[in-house]
Amino acid sequence: MLHLKSFCLCDATLATKMEMMADDCETRNILRPLVFRLHENAPAIVREVLLERGWTEFDKKEQDEADWNLYWRNSPFQLADHHSVKPWQRLNHYPEAVRITRKDYLARHLKRMKGAYGSSLYEFSPVAFIMPNDYVKFLAEYSKERQSVGRRPGFWICKPVDLSRGRGILIFRDIKDLKYDCSVIVQKYISNPLLISGYKLDLRLYVCVTSFCPLTIYTHEEGLVRFATEKFDLDSLDNVYAHLTNTSINRYGLSYRKYKEGIGCGCKWTFSKFRSYLRIFGVDDRLLWQKIHHIVILTLLAVTPLPAAPNCFELFGFDILIDDKFKPWLLEVNYNPALRLDCSTDDTVKRKLLHDVVELLNYKQSDAYRRNQAAGIKAGGRRESWSRAAKGVTREAPGLLACQKVVKCVSAPSLHPAPQPSRGSGCKGAAGTKKSSSPHPKKTLTSELRERMNTPRTASQARPEAKKKQLPVAPHKSAQLRLPTPDFSSYKLTPHPYFLSDKDQRPIPRVGGFVLIFPFNEAALQASRDGTDVKSIIKEINKSLSRQLPSKKQKTKKRVGSATSWRKLSSTVTEHTGRQMQRQHKLTRENPICWTQRTFS
Ligand code: ADP
Repeated sequence: MLHLKSFCLCDATLATKMEMMADDCETRNILRPLVFRLHENAPAIVREVLLERGWTEFDKKEQDEADWNLYWRNSPFQLADHHSVKPWQRLNHYPEAVRITRKDYLARHLKRMKGAYGSSLYEFSPVAFIMPNDYVKFLAEYSKERQSVGRRPGFWICKPVDLSRGRGILIFRDIKDLKYDCSVIVQKYISNPLLISGYKLDLRLYVCVTSFCPLTIYTHEEGLVRFATEKFDLDSLDNVYAHLTNTSINRYGLSYRKYKEGIGCGCKWTFSKFRSYLRIFGVDDRLLWQKIHHIVILTLLAVTPLPAAPNCFELFGFDILIDDKFKPWLLEVNYNPALRLDCSTDDTVKRKLLHDVVELLNYKQSDAYRRNQAAGIKAGGRRESWSRAAKGVTREAPGLLACQKVVKCVSAPSLHPAPQPSRGSGCKGAAGTKKSSSPHPKKTLTSELRERMNTPRTASQARPEAKKKQLPVAPHKSAQLRLPTPDFSSYKLTPHPYFLSDKDQRPIPRVGGFVLIFPFNEAALQASRDGTDVKSIIKEINKSLSRQLPSKKQKTKKRVGSATSWRKLSSTVTEHTGRQMQRQHKLTRENPICWTQRTFS
């Protein structure tokens, strides 16, 4: 009897377990891999990373227009793409992001901001003139500089407004050398850059804007330090290998593959290496990064608001040059920062960067959505995917059958992490698989359901959470009752960011290597809601900047520390490498007055 009872108990537990496994299995069966869509010339690393993550590539012939989760292109999307975007989809460009990525547009926006909010706040961008329109203004500035007594005339750099990778750039001192046959900007050349072992460098900072309204900005803590491959020399202005830090130029230089004292082979470091390098010299670089973050925010504010467009993100490449006083300068903002893998440093930085971008896009909701969508289909009595999943299963013993299903659907994804055909089947199959040629995709069962589930709810429609969790009674199978409930209210096509973490709509402060830099406090958050209140945000930035400014007494003390140590660093770096740097580090620790009182002017 006892035996029989315990057997029954075991049996009951087993049955429960089996049912739970069945639920799990059913859930997994409905979850399908996420799908990416790449436009021609999209970087290969994007495909690699997404495949690594178990995504599948969109197949025009097999899949519905709306049946992808991420569309990556190197050029802007058409407005129709933005209009027809679905809640489970993300586009990698904002409409009109080009407003800051074209050199002349950027110069114009920053100039306007200088006029509106004071040039001291926006003095991070070198003075620039857009040619040919600003020729007279440039001439005036050039002459003024030449005539000022005791001041050596400076250098200028001329850059085509819509070219990249260092193409068509000219550095000059004498106006007679200025020649151009297209629209260019002439910018003050920063002739005192920070040098490491005599080599010029700049920073490629990756910035991801997940929303322009409300403004939400992340910067990646890892990035690239890009070196020129020949020593900086103001006497040879036409030597691109000494003055330009573009990899696309330097990889053709004779010294590219050679070991270069102080920087090694190639022309790139990671930010981590740069940070450790600075710290070896006792340089506290926190203020530098803060300044850089301010540059990013102030630059993006210059083009805010962009037209509201949901479900877009933008990965910008900010080029920052640091001068020998440790002041960061904004050189330009790149629309499609290069994602080519030229060396192992690129691989380290860019692969992780892209993984983190995908994390930032928060596809968990879409996963859940797909699950809910399937549940919705079932609740509505359309059971294509369900009946397909149950094919070959007899009707007599539901518990056992569920278990058979577990074997089927658990093994399939593990053997084939990204089973393309499974997307073609299931719900989409019911709607047909042919791609629509119209810019607005044809309505299919899939897209209609998705849209229905993502329709914003009005306040009067809102119900308490508990009520929402009620699943409409599904006929027959008990397992269906345990399927996740379609949660219509969580899926809204709204201009709010899709990654919001809490009920107060505060973005997650950190995602992988991405660190939230805006909003940086409650006031900034408020000022960026319901339209961006640039004035209030600038006020907050000014407050934060004034907190950074040392008191008069500290200032004198620190300036000595700063100038001495930084000059010392710049010159020492030229001679010290490897073991010598470590010896210097020891010196730093033993002589704290000299090496630790550092700040940046
Ligand atoms: P591109 O889009 O062609 O790369 P950039 O503005 O990024 O144009 O300039 C290319 C390179 O030229 C930079 O990486 C930097 O090394 C150098 N450079 C550009 N502007 C300046 C400047 N104002 N001062 C000093 N160096 C500059």
